[in-house]
Amino acid sequence: MSTVVFRPTSLIEALTILNREHAQPFAGGTDLMVQRRRYGSLPPRFDRPVLFLDAVGEITTVHDGAPGAQSPGQLDGESRALWIGAACPLSEVLKHGAVSPVLKRSIELLAAPGLRNRATLGGNIANASPAADALPPLYALGARIVIDSIAGDGIKRRVVPIGEFIRGPRETTLGPEEILTFVVIPRHDYSHSYYRKVGTRAANALTKVAFAGVADRDAAGRVTRFACAFGAVAPTVVRVPEIEADVVGHAASSLDAEAIADRYSAYIRPIDDQRSTAAYRAHTAHALCADFVATLSAED
Ligand SMILES: Cc1cc2nc3c(=O)[nH]c(=O)nc-3n(C[C@H](O)[C@H](O)[C@H](O)COP(=O)(O)OP(=O)(O)OC[C@H]3O[C@@H](n4cnc5c(N)ncnc54)[C@H](O)[C@@H]3O)c2cc1C
Repeated sequence: MSTVVFRPTSLIEALTILNREHAQPFAGGTDLMVQRRRYGSLPPRFDRPVLFLDAVGEITTVHDGAPGAQSPGQLDGESRALWIGAACPLSEVLKHGAVSPVLKRSIELLAAPGLRNRATLGGNIANASPAADALPPLYALGARIVIDSIAGDGIKRRVVPIGEFIRGPRETTLGPEEILTFVVIPRHDYSHSYYRKVGTRAANALTKVAFAGVADRDAAGRVTRFACAFGAVAPTVVRVPEIEADVVGHAASSLDAEAIADRYSAYIRPIDDQRSTAAYRAHTAHALCADFVATLSAED
């Protein structure tokens, strides 16, 4: 049986089709084509119509600030944030000058160049793999997810922190009539950004552990902002606000990197799988966290 496909060019059209056809959103297809594959050179099989998102103009670029026509009142505080279109190819996200270095680094290490020309941030988030590489930076940066659906003649919008959007492995709060449209990232130039992905090779590597850290030090050497996020060590990305709050306000030179990493160990719950062992993951997550904290006092 052949697959019915739609390729809308506007968001309202895409949402209307999704609502009417109960279609499967398809951004870059780099997760979907694997999940839907059949063997023996048979084409992938989709059990419902496919909704291509790659021609939906509004969500295939990076916007400096809220896209004018779509900026709802409740987002006034975020109007200066970076709005990354969920269906923007990762290679285009990389080219944008205002994208945070910690997120860029994770994208540079995601898959390989050809794949990044198709794969999107929205797909990485909606697929909700515990090992998705862009997730730890997005958690550390306090990203918010914009989700749209059709309501009468217009668009209904909800905005949630990424940690509330992802509920578990492959599980999100996305409804069948909703499209993830933007990833909103507050603008801030951190004095310290750190990202490490531990895999088996430089490209197309399955992630064993990923770690993102961002922090600020003021002129007196005190830590004024601090956030850490760990990937592939629990069902969802691990971020612990209580530990972060305890670090803020201290002189960077007084921080005990090992002790801070020890505290995170209580929240790290890795598993053994085909990529790595739980013991290796726990040990590596600890080492990366301690290394990041040590960079904060490195210039003292
Ligand atoms: C060879 C190879 C190497 C890879 N390497 C890595 C890697 O190193 N790191 C990594 O993290 N991932 C990797 N991946 C996985 C994949 O490339 C990424 O997760 C990618 O970001 C998925 O984006 P996509 O646009 O291709 O998603 P798609 O495959 O199009 O979609 C994935 C899921 O999200 C849904 N979806 C997509 N966009 C939206 C939207 N806007 N609104 C609602 N639902 C949506 C789809 O319906 C589907 O369920 C790799 C994949 C392959 C094939």
